[in-house]
Amino acid sequence: MAKPEFDIVVIGGGSGGLVVAAGGASLGARVALVEKHRLGGDCLWTGCVPSKALLKSARIAHEIRHADRWALAPGHPQPDLARVMERVAAVIRGIEPNDSPERFRGLGVDVIFGSGTFVAPDAFAVDGRRLGAKTFVIATGARPAVPKIPGIETTPYLTNETLFDLREAVRSLIVIGAGPIGTEMAQAFGRLGSDVTVVDVAPQILPREDADLAAVVFRQLADEGIRHHLGAAVLACAGRAGDVRVSVRAADGTSVALAGSHLLVAAGRSANVDSLGLDAAGVRLEGDRLVVDDRLRTTNRNIYAIGDAAGGSQFTHLAEHHAGVVLRQALFRMRWAKPSPVVPWCTYTDPELARVGLSETEAKQRGVAHRVYRFAFDGIDRACADGETTGFAKIVTDPGGKLLGAAIVGAHAGELIAEYVLALSRGMKAQDLTGVIHAYPTLAQINRRVADQRLKEDLTPSSKRWLQRIFGLRGARG
Ligand SMILES: Cc1cc2nc3c(=O)[nH]c(=O)nc-3n(C[C@H](O)[C@H](O)[C@H](O)COP(=O)(O)OP(=O)(O)OC[C@H]3O[C@@H](n4cnc5c(N)ncnc54)[C@H](O)[C@@H]3O)c2cc1C
Repeated sequence: MAKPEFDIVVIGGGSGGLVVAAGGASLGARVALVEKHRLGGDCLWTGCVPSKALLKSARIAHEIRHADRWALAPGHPQPDLARVMERVAAVIRGIEPNDSPERFRGLGVDVIFGSGTFVAPDAFAVDGRRLGAKTFVIATGARPAVPKIPGIETTPYLTNETLFDLREAVRSLIVIGAGPIGTEMAQAFGRLGSDVTVVDVAPQILPREDADLAAVVFRQLADEGIRHHLGAAVLACAGRAGDVRVSVRAADGTSVALAGSHLLVAAGRSANVDSLGLDAAGVRLEGDRLVVDDRLRTTNRNIYAIGDAAGGSQFTHLAEHHAGVVLRQALFRMRWAKPSPVVPWCTYTDPELARVGLSETEAKQRGVAHRVYRFAFDGIDRACADGETTGFAKIVTDPGGKLLGAAIVGAHAGELIAEYVLALSRGMKAQDLTGVIHAYPTLAQINRRVADQRLKEDLTPSSKRWLQRIFGLRGARG
């Protein structure tokens, strides 16, 4: 039988697809990359990069207003959203060359623009060109899911796909969805001068997180004047550009009429897997999700799904990790390669909320025997020096001290969690962190201090008495 034209055909040139394409080509594979729009995906154009760039401008505006916290004269910035969004666009432009078609062609990847469909279990066609391959990778990402709210079809609304194109002032923003995207954007727009109201059916913001952690972010948002209707149902929307109305049934059953200049829908995401001709390839969907096994294989063993299209957690770092897992299987026949179960994430509000592993809530729900330890940032000297004492770190261990999960809400939590990612990946115990030296004064000391709590617990009064007897200690005064 004739060999197929390609070793790998990647469908979708975002975070995951680009890593498969670049990695495959540099390892000597013949790779085609099919992209329907522009290389870079959600993360570069409409996700991580613009949202973090916007949050940075918003944070600076907030800190100028509150400069008296650092004994400096506060200012009164009047953010010009058009200028701020131009900076966001410039940040994207700065990163874009890494993801450019020229760069990928230079690596030897056959970059093909267009959206095609599978025409056989081993062939994908784009604009009449049939691409045969040993392995296909579906890396088509996800799009905003828009809930079926009466009136939504005729109401102007924004999603992450249009938000960063805004150049006019946003006087008042209604946000549907208090997950990570809705919460980050609520804080960003609030700090940039918009009057913000958030509505969500869940009883707390960031519903995937423990309530005590999410409450710290919630209090900060409330202090900044952001209003929330949680445990609430959106009943209907109406309006025209610049004048949007949303009716809500609040948690206590009362009706609330919200009015705003803009509406942002951030109420979940749907995988882009519906127009790929999956039937022709023998790839099965369950509902609107791809059936994918623990090695990222679809029901056609030569077709993998990665990143947001695979239907699990939606993070850039996970899509990139998936890419490596698929390359190991497809090129080196490492059939056992599976994604790591240790996946960190972070919501980049101020304070940040970062997580890895099991939460306290999940441990309770699953009946896992566990212990919880906390340490607050106000006990960390660097946090005091920086004037950023909000929040705490929390670890979940088994009764023997083995780490099951960690979460941090506070300044730079997204950076700090990395130590716990390594600890969890290596199956470490809390005790392993207590012996590690952390530079003073760093925020990272919180990682050791929270682990120390476990050690302190082991020191019962009777074990203290034993230590005193064995080592001839005299005991503390008082
Ligand atoms: C507002 C926002 C903020 C975010 N912030 C973060 C963050 O801070 N950290 C983080 O880790 N994650 C964040 N994410 C999530 C992150 O962007 C995604 O998890 C990541 O981009 C997924 O990568 P992917 O390769 O699966 O899909 P994408 O990067 O979206 O790439 C999919 C590509 O496939 C193309 N495509 C779609 N359909 C077809 C088709 N039929 N044929 C050919 N091509 C097709 C698309 O045009 C796109 O280029 C954020 C997302 C949003 C929306």
